[in-house]
This record gives sequence, structure tokens and C-alpha cells, in this order.
Amino acid sequence: MIEQNVKSTSDKGARDWLDKLVTKAIDSRASDIHIEPSRDYGAIRLRVDGFLYELERFEKQYYDQMISQIKVVSQLDITKHKLPQDGHFEVNNNGEVYNLRVSTYPTIYGEVAVLRVLNRDDSLLGLKELGLDEDQYKDVIDLIYNPYGIILITGPSGSGKTTFLNSILTLLNKPDNNIITIEDPVELKMEGIRQTQINQYEEFNFSTALRAVLRQDPDIMMVGEIRDSETAQISIQAALTGKLIFSTFHTLDVFGIISRMLEMEIPRSVLAHTISGVISTRLVRKICNECKVKYELTEDEKSILSGVDLEGIDFHRGEGCDNCAGSGYYGRIGIFEVIKFGNDIRAMIVDNLPYVEMLEVLERTRRKTLGESAIDIVYQGITTMEEVIRVVGKPVVSINHK
Ligand SMILES: [Zn+2]
Repeated sequence: MIEQNVKSTSDKGARDWLDKLVTKAIDSRASDIHIEPSRDYGAIRLRVDGFLYELERFEKQYYDQMISQIKVVSQLDITKHKLPQDGHFEVNNNGEVYNLRVSTYPTIYGEVAVLRVLNRDDSLLGLKELGLDEDQYKDVIDLIYNPYGIILITGPSGSGKTTFLNSILTLLNKPDNNIITIEDPVELKMEGIRQTQINQYEEFNFSTALRAVLRQDPDIMMVGEIRDSETAQISIQAALTGKLIFSTFHTLDVFGIISRMLEMEIPRSVLAHTISGVISTRLVRKICNECKVKYELTEDEKSILSGVDLEGIDFHRGEGCDNCAGSGYYGRIGIFEVIKFGNDIRAMIVDNLPYVEMLEVLERTRRKTLGESAIDIVYQGITTMEEVIRVVGKPVVSINHK
């Protein structure tokens, strides 16, 4: 049930409608609910396991009433239709509290509302449950128990970076650590950690927050994202003074980080010695257990795996059933590439090696590429080749990988 935090002026019909919709979305494991106007009708779409699908359409005459109801419970201004607004509300579903972050946006046919469902169980997974293999887990533990340095998580949006960071912070959350986060937005509230919500509109941005946090005697800081040169410079400075910093970076790999950091005027030697590791992550959908069957790879899939010994390996996929709403997939799991910065990597950055030589250094020092992590879970029957290709493209797999 939606907890009304204001005296509702809305009618019961609209309230029941929103209650039902949110319950349906939570039961379907949706991460986002979209309420969208077209010229002649309204539509509701849900995003489940990263995929958006249409749940239903309804008559346009009810549209404004529904948007108003969402605005009422999110404490937004129901008289404003021409500007985007942000708000949130909470619901209690079978004893669990969910936070719904609401964003409205004006379009030519009316306002769109997107509701992000937060505080779901899977945002609280332990580090062991995310999908790291044994070696990767050890490397991550090695990295995060460093007393100082910067650890960067990379990947496109929706690739599991926040979930991963939350798992790490939960593990490090002890009374003898002062952990402060700077987030935009705070997606999951964590007991014992001082979380900060920045506000770009009021000049309380990543860099101003970071400066203030440094005077709060932190041991560990999580900066939601390094977006600009100033944030990068202050983070580097903090790491040099003995703080442990976690952040995400919007690049796809280590090379992207190096070139972006150089653009942000971080000197090569400083960059090489303050970053202690880079972890890339993506999410792949898991095959539905209720309809999983063995199948033969297509010729295209085989050619992608050319050079890999496929002898004796069974491949699986989901045929589609009620459990997975016909998609053949149910839930997602992370795949990772963990790169610890050792002497070889530091030297390659300081010496500005040509790209090909840097690739060789990485090949020598990392344990597994993202592609190899993905292929491993195909071998284990957890996901399909089709899904791997969708998420990582043609996976980079070395001949010896099995
Ligand atoms: Zn199924």
C-alpha cells in the first residue's frame, strides 16, 4: 500500500489504480515503470531484467488523472505541466518497504512519468553473490582492503555498478571505519554509512561535496561518479593523503580511463600510482530454470567461438514459459573483469607505451576478460551465447581459455 505522506485530494479510483500498478510491477520484478502518453491512448511499460515491454494501454481520457495521482503521492506540483519534476514515494508490499523515485517529463502529448523501483532485494546482495569467480573475488578483496588509493568501477548505465559498490561498502562497513558517500541519487540506504545526496541545481555538486567531506575525517569515500576535472583532481588528492576512494567512471575499459584522466589534466605518474584497480562490470540475463533446454549452437555462434575447444560442452537456452513471461530468461548475474594495478601496469602508463604494447601488458597481468567471464557462465549453463553477444559483442577469448 502506498503510504500517503500528504493529505490526498485524489479520488479513490486513481489511488487504487496506482496501488495495483505498483504491486504488479514489484511482483513482476520490474526496475522501472513508464507511464507514457501517445496521441490517442496512454501506455504502461515495465523494465524487467533490463528489458522494456508494454504491459497495457488505456484510454486517453484517464491519463491526466493518473499522472496527477502519481504527482500527489510524490509531493510534486500538480499544477505544473510544462517542466520536468522529481519526487518519490514509498510503498509497503508484503511487509517490505520500496522506494519509488518519480521523474516526470513534458512531451507534446502530455507528461511522461517514470518510476524507478528501489530497495529491491537484489540491491543488497553480498559480494560473493554477484557472480565473481573465486580468483576475481580474491582480487577484489585484495583491492578493497588497501588502506588508500582509488578503485574505479566502469561500465555503461544499468551494468550493475551501483549494486557492486553497495556490496563493497556493506562489507567494509565496520564501526572503526568512517565511510561517507556522495551520490546522485542515493539509491539504497545503508545503516552506519553517511550518505549524501548532491543537488546539481543548488551548486552542491560532486566537487563541492567532496571538498566538504574531506573535512569530515573520512577513511573511505564513495563518489558516485567522476564526471569532471575538478572531481578527479580532488579525488586524486584525497587518495594521495591516505584515503580509500571508490567511484564509477563512464568509460568501457582501462584505456578509456587513462585517456579521460589525462584529458582531465592528471599527470601520468600520479594517475599510475593512485589508481589501485579497475573493475569492469556488465549484467547478463540468466536462463529461466523452468524452461531450460540443451541446444546446438548456430553456425554464427560457433564462428564467434572459433579457436575455442567446444568438445564435450553442452549449451543451453530457455524455451519460454509462464515463469519467465515467455522470454526464456529470469533474473540477471554480473560478469566482471578485475584489473589490479601492479608495477607492469604503472610502468606502461608512466612510459606512455603504444596501444599494442599496453594490450600485451594487460593480457599478461589480468586473469580474465569480460568476454571470458561471460563465456564461462555459458559453459556453466547459466546464460546463452545470444545474451553474451548482446551484452559484450564478440567476446575476446584467448585460445587457452576453457
Ligand atoms: Zn521460462
